[in-house]
Amino acid sequence: MENLKLRLLSNFVIVFLLLAFGWWSILLYTKNKDAFIAKSNYLQIVMAAKGKVANSAEFEKTVEFQELEDSYKRQEWMILGEALFFIISLVIGIYIINRGYNREMIAAQERRNFLLSITHELKSPISSIRLVLETFLKRDLEKNQINQLSGTALEETERLTTLVEDLLLAAKMENHYQPVLESVDVVYLIEGLVEKLRTKFPNVDFSFTHNGLIPNIMADKTGITSITINLLENAVKYSPAPAVIDIQASRNGQLLELEFADQGFGVTEKEKKKIFRKFYRTGSEDTRSTKGTGLGLYIVKEIVEAHQGTITIEDNQPRGSIFKIKLPLVMKNKQIS
Ligand code: ADP
Repeated sequence: MENLKLRLLSNFVIVFLLLAFGWWSILLYTKNKDAFIAKSNYLQIVMAAKGKVANSAEFEKTVEFQELEDSYKRQEWMILGEALFFIISLVIGIYIINRGYNREMIAAQERRNFLLSITHELKSPISSIRLVLETFLKRDLEKNQINQLSGTALEETERLTTLVEDLLLAAKMENHYQPVLESVDVVYLIEGLVEKLRTKFPNVDFSFTHNGLIPNIMADKTGITSITINLLENAVKYSPAPAVIDIQASRNGQLLELEFADQGFGVTEKEKKKIFRKFYRTGSEDTRSTKGTGLGLYIVKEIVEAHQGTITIEDNQPRGSIFKIKLPLVMKNKQIS
C-alpha cells in the first residue's frame, strides 16, 4: 500500500513536471513571437519615419528586418530543441526508473516467496523427525514399525541436508564460486547418480545413453554432481507419474554436451528466460503443488557458467523439456587445483 502511494505520488510529480514544462515552452514560444512582432513593428515605424521604407513589402526586404527575423528563427529553434531534449530525457529517465522499480518489486516478491517456501521446507521435515522421535519415546514399537519410522526420518533428514546444501551453495555463488578442478569421468559420475536416483524413485524410467568416446573433463566433481541431481530431480518433480527421463552425453569437438530430457509439464516461452533466476518459481498450478525454493536452476546455471559452459532449455516432443549443457573439455586460463 505504502509502495502504491509512493508510486502515485511520483507519477503525479512526473506528470506535473511534464505539463509545467510543456506550458512554459508554449509560453516562451508565443512570447518570443510577440517580441519579434513588436520589435519588427517598431523597426518599421522608425525606418518609415526616416523615409527608408514606404510599406511592409519594402521593409521585409531590408537587411535590418532579415537580421531580426534570423535571430527570431534561431531563438524559436532553440526553444523547440530544448523542450524536445528535456521531454525526451524526462521520458527516458521515467522509463529507466520504472523499469528498475518493477525489477526491484519482482525481486522483493521472489524473496518473499522464497522465505515462505524455505520456512515450509525447513519446518515440515523437522516436524516429522520430531514426531518419529516422540513416538519412539512414548511407545514400545515392533521391529518393523521402528524400521518404517526410521526410514521416514532418514528420508526427511536427507531432504533437510539437500536443502541446507542448496542454501550453502547459493551463498557460495554470491561470493564468486570458484570450481575446484580435477579430472572427472562424467559418464561414470552420471551413471552412479542415476543408479542412486533409481533407488530413490523406483517408478521413474531413467535412461542414460552416451557414445562411448567421452574423455574425462577438467571440472568440479561436486559442481557436476549438483547440476545432475538438480536437473534430474526437477525432471521427476515436474513430470506426471510415471516420469520418463532420458539423459545423453556426447562429445562435440572440444565440448562435452549433456542433455536432460523429460516428458513433463514443460516450460512456456515466457518462463524460459526467468527460471534460472534466483528464487524464481513458475506461477503454474503444477509448480505450486510441488515443493521447492527456486534455487536449483540458479545454482545449476552458476556452476555451468563457472565452468565456462552454457545451459539452454528447449521443448521436448511431444511434451516436456530438454535442458542442454555444453562444457569445455578443458577450461581456458584455469589452473588445476
Ligand atoms: P524449484 O524446483 O525449487 O522451484 P528450480 O530453480 O529448480 O526451483 O526451478 C525453477 C522453476 O523452473 C520451477 O519452479 C519450475 O516451475 C520450473 N522447472 C524447473 N525444471 C523443470 C522441468 N524439468 N520441467 C518443467 N518445469 C521446470
